[in-house]
Amino acid sequence: MCYDCALMVSTYPKRADLLQGQGIADIIKQEVADEVRAFAASRALPPSLATVLVGDDTASAVYVRNKVKACEEVGIHSEQHNLTSGTTTSDLLKLIEDLNRRDDVDGILVQLPLPKQIDESAIIEAINPAKDVDAFHPANVGLLALGRPRFVPCTPAGIIELLDRNNIEIAGANACVIGRSQIVGRPVASLLLQRHATVTVCHSRTRDLPLVTRQADILVAAIGRPAFVRGNFIKPGATVIDVGVNKVIDATDAREMFGDDAEKRIDSIKRRGYTLVGDVHPVEADAVARYRTPVPGGVGLLTVAMLMRNTLAAARQRRGR
Ligand code: NAP
Repeated sequence: MCYDCALMVSTYPKRADLLQGQGIADIIKQEVADEVRAFAASRALPPSLATVLVGDDTASAVYVRNKVKACEEVGIHSEQHNLTSGTTTSDLLKLIEDLNRRDDVDGILVQLPLPKQIDESAIIEAINPAKDVDAFHPANVGLLALGRPRFVPCTPAGIIELLDRNNIEIAGANACVIGRSQIVGRPVASLLLQRHATVTVCHSRTRDLPLVTRQADILVAAIGRPAFVRGNFIKPGATVIDVGVNKVIDATDAREMFGDDAEKRIDSIKRRGYTLVGDVHPVEADAVARYRTPVPGGVGLLTVAMLMRNTLAAARQRRGR
């Protein structure tokens, strides 16, 4: 453990509580399921989501499968379009045009990333903004930035739910987001600002990152680097939201990150060849933070639940409440 972390452990000896995503995701899905039932009772068709998966990336396939499963749980109709890895931009545009035109499709979800030969921006911009349940279309990005979102992007929305439902106060807090992607970093910073946090956004060019992040009462890590956020990045008593999903394949790395809790992780590496970890070093964070979201089992579960909520919202907006 580094010198700074050792100092913090001595000043903040309590082990962080884990903010589990499962219970909150289940509650949100139950809320959506109740509303879907009421919606479907007065209409010919329940809300519907079309998922589009291109290529054979195993992680993307798992993400889509989880979304389809969540649709089944809440009573949303889903249809899947699985296209080969050789699909062209124009093939995909034709499918999007068809889904845009169809009255029985409320939401369209194109799983990202797309294979390299496909123009991702062209695809995102082709989706009818009224069916863009991921909220990646520029029109929806603009509405969010203005503070009057049509849909809130799923992962950022899930992070706000996690904070709210654990009674972690956002208004007035110093919030720091590491990462400025369109999918996570920027929209979550925008939402935190709209909820009256004082927000700092960090990225790969930020100077003395730990000095900046240590000011944060709420620290969101959305980087894509395993265990990058060490104990000395964290203010004692802070809430740490770990968005990262990274594969670790080395048992020694897993042991260094998880300490006494490493055995399950090492088993997973033996069985599957990897274990999933976040952007935050769990052992060091737990010695300093008040709360931390685990990976897996934290933010990711909320992302899927919020997609269900957005699909219901799309159906209501298109077909009346
Ligand atoms: P991304 O588009 O690759 O963005 C990563 C961000 O991290 C960039 O802004 C980058 O800065 C910043 N960064 C990289 N190295 C850094 C460093 N050394 N110091 C400071 N900042 C650094 O990734 P993303 O799509 O936002 O995803 C981030 C992570 O979240 C990934 O692990 C992804 O798998 C995960 N994720 C999880 C969920 C979920 O539901 N749980 C959903 C989406 C994403 P620059 O802009 O300067 O390059």
